[in-house]
Amino acid sequence: MGLSSPVFGHNVSVKVLLIEDDDAIASSLLAALTGTGIDAQREKTAHEGQAKAISENFDVILLDLGLPDGDGLDVARKIRETAQTPIIIVSARGDEVDRIVGLEIGADDYVVKPFSQRELLARIRAVVRRNVPRDIEVLTLPSRLRIDEKSRRATLDGVELSLTAKEFDVLNFLAQEPGVVFRRTEILDGVWDTEWYGTTKTLDAHVAAIRKKLGHQGWIEAVRGVGFKFVEIPE
Ligand code: CA
Repeated sequence: MGLSSPVFGHNVSVKVLLIEDDDAIASSLLAALTGTGIDAQREKTAHEGQAKAISENFDVILLDLGLPDGDGLDVARKIRETAQTPIIIVSARGDEVDRIVGLEIGADDYVVKPFSQRELLARIRAVVRRNVPRDIEVLTLPSRLRIDEKSRRATLDGVELSLTAKEFDVLNFLAQEPGVVFRRTEILDGVWDTEWYGTTKTLDAHVAAIRKKLGHQGWIEAVRGVGFKFVEIPE
């Protein structure tokens, strides 16, 4: 198993193999995965990806279809001959045929590019949850801050934070993707009902309140002219 993965809960290790030839997509994905505590590794070709997928134990394989030396569907087929590792196909090919073939071969899910990192992380969580019979509901961020989505409680260094419902939502939204800068409108869209659209002033007030309760400005950093990002403050 890989390193302890905070996003997936206490003592749950998640190791992901990304088989993707596109450097830009791979590097942003790797950053998002490792940022949430996942042990992520990458291979660029069908040949190397397949070899690694079979020789090592991974919890999830993210598989591109258009690889320089072969088709990802063949890679999935070969992996399935020897291993039941969950496979999520991540492809620009949105064809119904590819999708059906992919799932028939034994892929667990199919995500079409472009996708949001949040969506992909949710799919990874879902696949891991189906395959790992452990409590992975608890979102634990590295060492200090723990967010339990089920009970909607957050603790810092073991001490419960008394957050309002919206403060919890804002913190949870940002903390799911540490280091990722979200525009104010994205946070408003993600947290508030679309019916009643909060104002950026409302959001700023919530962020100020959360920061106060966390006892340090640094947990939620303002990015001038853009929005906010979550940053883990070490002890
Ligand atoms: Ca590709």
